[in-house]
Amino acid sequence: MSDEMECMCLECGISSHFPAVDLSFDTFPGFAGKRTVTNLFCPQCGGVLFVVGLVGEEPCYRTG
Ligand SMILES: [Zn+2]
Repeated sequence: MSDEMECMCLECGISSHFPAVDLSFDTFPGFAGKRTVTNLFCPQCGGVLFVVGLVGEEPCYRTG
């Protein structure tokens, strides 16, 4: 069973889903208490991604 994690781009703000096993991210929170992904980048603009959380969990950011 593979969990997917939702990641959001710091540059353009889009969110993408990646298998959790494919992600490497900082071991301590950085920007706004989020962990930044260190091995993958935004598919749209190449910007830095941060981890929002597991897909399907209650999002911890505001969508409005
Ligand atoms: Zn982007």
